[in-house]
Amino acid sequence: MAKISLENWSEKIRDPEIECMSREEMKALQSEKLVKQVKNVYENVAFYRKKMDEAGVKPEDIRSIDDIGKLPFTTKEDLRENYPFGLLAVPQSKIARVQGTSGTTGKLTLASYTEKDVDVWGECVARALTMAGLTEEDKLHVCYGYGLFTGGMGLDLGARALGCMSIPMSSGNTQRQLMCMEDFGATAFACTPSYAMYLAEAAKEAGVVERLQLKAGINGAEPWTDEMRHQIEDTLNVNCFDIYGLCEITGPGVACDCIHHKGLHVYEDHFFPEVLNPVDHTPCAEGETGELVFTTLSKEGMPLIRYRTKDLTSIEYGKCECGRTLPRIQKFTGRTDDMKVIRGVNVFPTQVEAALLSIGEGVAPHYMMVVDRENNLDVLTVMVEVDEKYFSDEIRKLEALKKKIELALKQALGVAVKVKLCEPKSIQRSEGKAKRVIDNRNL
Ligand SMILES: [Zn+2]
Repeated sequence: MAKISLENWSEKIRDPEIECMSREEMKALQSEKLVKQVKNVYENVAFYRKKMDEAGVKPEDIRSIDDIGKLPFTTKEDLRENYPFGLLAVPQSKIARVQGTSGTTGKLTLASYTEKDVDVWGECVARALTMAGLTEEDKLHVCYGYGLFTGGMGLDLGARALGCMSIPMSSGNTQRQLMCMEDFGATAFACTPSYAMYLAEAAKEAGVVERLQLKAGINGAEPWTDEMRHQIEDTLNVNCFDIYGLCEITGPGVACDCIHHKGLHVYEDHFFPEVLNPVDHTPCAEGETGELVFTTLSKEGMPLIRYRTKDLTSIEYGKCECGRTLPRIQKFTGRTDDMKVIRGVNVFPTQVEAALLSIGEGVAPHYMMVVDRENNLDVLTVMVEVDEKYFSDEIRKLEALKKKIELALKQALGVAVKVKLCEPKSIQRSEGKAKRVIDNRNL
C-alpha cells in the first residue's frame, strides 16, 4: 500500500449530519446542550455553584451559546485543588474509567468518564480515523502508551467504534514494533510525531519500508510542523494526520485534520471551542492567535466549563474543501508554558523546527534548545544534528552549514542564536513526547 494522492482520496465522512451541519443548526444544538450542562454543574458540582455564585451568574442567565462569556473559567489549578474526584457531576459509582497525565507538581491531572463519556470519546476518534481514510477493513497499530495516558486507550476506543482491527502495541522497542507492523500487515499507525519520525528512520535503516503496508499515520499529542509531516510521509510513503486532545476534555479525538491539512476540525457538538486573548480573555477575531478554551457540552462524569488549555492557536469557521463545516483550529504555535522569552522575544520550539526543516540538505530534524543567561543576557543555543554524509565532509563545509542555520534561525525567530552542530544520532530520541527545551536560567 502507499500514500494516496489527493485526486484519489475518497472523502468519507462518518457523521455527515453533524460534521456538515449549517452554522445555525450547530449553534442551536450547542445552545440546547450548554443550557442543560450549566444547570447540571450548578446543581451537582459544588465548585461550579460557588464559582457561578461569586461571578453573580445563575443558570437562568445562560439561554444560548452566545451567553458563554458570562461563565467563569476553569484552570488546571482548579483541577489540582479538587483532585482526585472533587469535580464529578455524578456519584463515583457511575464512573467507568479514569485517565490522567502527570503534572509538574507530582500529582496527576485526572479525568473521570462515565460509560457514555467513553462512548462519545470512541465515536470522536472514529470520526478522526475516518478523516484519515480508515475503514473497518483497516488494521491500526497503536504505539501510543497504554495506561493512564489517554493516547493508547483513545485510539483503541476509536478503532473499536469504527470496527477496524486494533493492534495495541503501546510504546517502546522499535525493532519489535517494525516486526509486528510487517507481520500483521498494519495499514495505519498511531503515535507522537517525534516517535513517528524515529520509527520512519528505523524502518528506512532496516530496509523494511517497502515491505510495510502502511497508508496512514495518526500522529498527535505534541506540536509539530508541516515540514516534519512531509518528512515522515516521504520516508514511510504514507499520509499523516494530526490528532489533538487533552485528557481533561477527552484525550485524543477533540480535533483532527483532514486530507487538505488546512487546520484541525473540532468536534464542536461535544467540545465548544473559544479562542481568547491570553492577557485580557476577550474573544479573538477569526484567524487571530490566542488561548484555546473548551466547554464540554456532552460530558457527564467531569464536565468542564470554559477550561483554559494554555494551547495557542487560531480558529476558522469557513467550510472546508472536504465538505465539513466543523471549524478548524490551526496547528499549535505552542503552549503558553513552552514559550520561551529570549531577550524579550517570544520563541516557540515549533518555529525552530520549521526553520531547520526549511534548510533541507544536511540537517536532520532532531534538535534541542538550550537557554542560558550569560552576563545578564539570554543566550539561546540550538543543538542540531547533521546528516551522516555531511558530518564526514570537510570542516569548511560544516562551517558554511552552521552559518546557514544561524542565519535561518535568526530570520525566523528575530533573535540571534548560537548553533552547535552535533553528530548523527547524538540527540536523545523520545518514545513519547519530545523534550525540546532546556532552560538553565533561574527565573
Ligand atoms: Zn476538511
